[in-house]
Amino acid sequence: MINGNVSHWWQQIGQPKLRSPLAGDLQLDVAIVGAGYTGLWTAYYLKQAQPDLRIAIIEQRHAGYGASGRNGGWLTNAITGGREQYVASHGRDAAERQQRAMNETVDEVIRVAAAEGIDADIKKGGEFNVAYAPAQEKRIREFAAAEQAWKYTDLELLEADEAMAKINVAGTRAAVWHPHCARIQPAKLAAGLATAVEKLGVTIYEGTTASEISPHRVVTNRGTVSAEYVVRATEGFTANLKGLRRLWLPMNSSLIATEPLPQSVWDSLHWNNGEVLGDFAHVYMYAQRTADDRIAIGGRGVPYRYGSRTDTDGQTPIVTVDTLSEIMHRFFPATRGAAVEHVWSGVLGVPRDWAATVGLDHETGIAWGGGYVGTGVTSTNLAGRTITDLILGNQSELVTLPWVNHRVRKWEPEPLRWIATKGLYTAYGMADAAEYRGRPTTSPIAKIADVITGRA
Ligand SMILES: Cc1cc2nc3c(=O)[nH]c(=O)nc-3n(C[C@H](O)[C@H](O)[C@H](O)COP(=O)(O)OP(=O)(O)OC[C@H]3O[C@@H](n4cnc5c(N)ncnc54)[C@H](O)[C@@H]3O)c2cc1C
Repeated sequence: MINGNVSHWWQQIGQPKLRSPLAGDLQLDVAIVGAGYTGLWTAYYLKQAQPDLRIAIIEQRHAGYGASGRNGGWLTNAITGGREQYVASHGRDAAERQQRAMNETVDEVIRVAAAEGIDADIKKGGEFNVAYAPAQEKRIREFAAAEQAWKYTDLELLEADEAMAKINVAGTRAAVWHPHCARIQPAKLAAGLATAVEKLGVTIYEGTTASEISPHRVVTNRGTVSAEYVVRATEGFTANLKGLRRLWLPMNSSLIATEPLPQSVWDSLHWNNGEVLGDFAHVYMYAQRTADDRIAIGGRGVPYRYGSRTDTDGQTPIVTVDTLSEIMHRFFPATRGAAVEHVWSGVLGVPRDWAATVGLDHETGIAWGGGYVGTGVTSTNLAGRTITDLILGNQSELVTLPWVNHRVRKWEPEPLRWIATKGLYTAYGMADAAEYRGRPTTSPIAKIADVITGRA
């Protein structure tokens, strides 16, 4: 079994040959820090809109090194932190516009991938979430009723038989499905986008680490970049930048990938249409059937390291393999004999209110996109298009969406941050265990944890 080495997705396509680092000071129109999806999409749309812009991306390792090359491959329409927050701040219509934009963004990513010849194993089979404990069932039914009252959700509630005919998860009590989601191979998308922006004339400087972003300036270990605009696209690594330690909490998420499973196993699992699979536990899992017939299944491993330290190449404690394998075996008893070939982790950015944001400060020229928690694969594209419109001054529908220029307070200093996150996941784990043992309603422990962390 391979542990780390960035991710199974990179392992599959081969570790990339590094592009050249920055060779001294540089003057640009737009400097982007971070070559994940946020940075790459921003470069893509800016350059499409205005080909004469001088744009470069500064990347500490290689394009797609972060969450963009390691995630679960759910290209889904989920709004990070939910829709309700926008009803409170901007009204129901704005929240619905945000949802419609997310639905359209799923298709926009698929469109650009096709247009640019990026084969990222994309299959649009929708998002399927299952409930297998009484309290989860109660939550899923309430969730379905609430979702169906909104425009643009297109959510269906499936009873046990219907659900198990789609994906045969043992013990299913009910499930929900909506069509606005595709399965992707994350590293293929990141690598393809990097090539696409280079073709448009954007330079990616790899092996170049920014230590500080200040108005119109990026200080790196290879020189200083001056630019009219600087885009901060560093997500879970943001805490490493000067002055930003407490902005977004870096939280780890981990995945395992099995060996390719034989047809006999798939005959019992069904799962034939590219659906991604999640559940209604508090410490939720997420999974996909890969294009080469593996199961890649993820969840929170060791969620947070003291002092906001970020990982090295996705190395993961072995206990995580056991935790994720156990979930997989419980869901799909037919996978018990299957070998796990790879385990890895990645880091995501968690704002204090769990709400993703995109924005531009005209005074400093600093733009940003991030805080996507576990749902950024689609939002990064919306962020890239929005930053483009903000920089170019386009009065588009995108710049009026409620997540634009949203500000959030910082996380508490250590050790509170560490205690809170540790306590949070212990609490959610306890709540899940109680519910799995048959507790009929949502555990109060989980409700309290939601309030403390700002998720409720
Ligand atoms: C394990 C895991 C599973 C996930 N699963 C899903 C999923 O299925 N669906 C979904 O929607 N979302 C998922 N997410 C979240 C999603 O992957 C991210 O929200 C998204 O990829 C963020 O893209 P980004 O470009 O903003 O950040 P990243 O991809 O993290 O890119 C940031 C880049 O900036 C570089 N960088 C950082 N700091 C510096 C610096 N100081 N100097 C130079 N370069 C720097 C990094 O090396 C990195 O390449 C998952 C995340 C993880 C970790």
